[in-house]
Amino acid sequence: MARKAAHNEAAEAARRLTISAVTLASEDLPIAKAQAALARRIRLKFNIRLDASLKRYTCRGCKGLIVPGVNARVRLGHGKPPILRITCLECGRVNRKILRRAYIRSGKVGKSDS
Ligand SMILES: [Zn+2]
Repeated sequence: MARKAAHNEAAEAARRLTISAVTLASEDLPIAKAQAALARRIRLKFNIRLDASLKRYTCRGCKGLIVPGVNARVRLGHGKPPILRITCLECGRVNRKILRRAYIRSGKVGKSDS
């Protein structure tokens, strides 16, 4: 089916563009951002989800490219469960990521406060 082939091709293109944008970000942020925006447009057009590993490079606030050390700040929260806070330095949005959910379910968390 032509439509499905186009979909797969678009998914691959979007993935490659996003990876390229992330690697380029430290050298040329404007171009990297343009690449990320293009990848996002492709994803919207073909209704493609981003790989889980690449998801953290997109800000949930401004939908732009965020790369730690370039235009994002990463901080680890002290709570239980531990939460990774990725602050977008473009729009100020704090993108939270909860860590180690499986570990918490195992019942090992919550016995010590230190
Ligand atoms: Zn943002």
